[in-house]
Formats: sequence, structure tokens, C-alpha cells
Amino acid sequence: MTERTIFHKIRDKELPADIVYEDDLVLVFKDIRPQAALHLLLIPKKEGDVVASIADITKSTEHVPGMLIDKARNFAKEKGIDGYRLTFHVGKGGGQEVFYLHLHFLSNQSLKD
Ligand code: AMP
Repeated sequence: MTERTIFHKIRDKELPADIVYEDDLVLVFKDIRPQAALHLLLIPKKEGDVVASIADITKSTEHVPGMLIDKARNFAKEKGIDGYRLTFHVGKGGGQEVFYLHLHFLSNQSLKD
């Protein structure tokens, strides 16, 4: 990846975001234009795990989509959310706007503290 996207800046804390979960590998924050009661975005943090899109996954990054799905599943379980949708937009034709791989997490159940 050559160009730094808005998600690089959120990851590097150069731009603010409503962060709901973070560990060494993944950052989870609220989508600024929510399409459901709860709309989160999960992004990989390690530079070696960052690709522009699902279409750009190679051997060295093939673990990343599964890792994001795993984090989403664990997050939902921990928060007691039992119904949700997970989506990757792939390419401009697939509605992708930000070319930093991310997983959308949408639920009609909102987040309880
Ligand atoms: P995609 O269409 O899959 O590329 O999704 C990009 C998502 O990022 C959209 O749902 C936007 O609403 C969201 N988004 C863009 N800028 C920000 C931001 N600064 N903070 C949080 N979400 C954002």
C-alpha cells in the first residue's frame, strides 16, 4: 500500500474515532455514518496485516479476514450481541470507499456498557 488512508490515521491516533475495543492486532471503532443501531468497523493494526482490500489478499495476509471475523465473534459474545451482520465491501464496484481492509459489523442491538 502506498497511500495512507483515513483508517491509517485513526489507527495511528492522528484522527479521533469512537474506539470500542483495541488489542495488539485489531482496532474496533464506530462508523461515522451508521447504517444500523450499532455499526462498527474492525481494522487490522500491524503494518504487515494491512492491505487495501479483500482483492489484494496474498499468502502472507490470508489470515487477516479470519482474524477480523474471529474478533467480531468474540466481541459480540462478550457484549451479549446475538444477531449481527458482517460485511466486506470489495472494490469501488462493491461500494468500498476506504482502501484499508475493514470488516463492517452491524446489529440492531446497541452496545451496553
Ligand atoms: P467502505 O464503503 O467499506 O469503504 O466503508 C467505509 C466506511 O467508513 C463507511 O461506512 C464510512 O461511513 C466510514 N467512515 C469514513 N470515515 C470515517 C471516520 N472518520 N470515522 C469512522 N468511520 C468512517
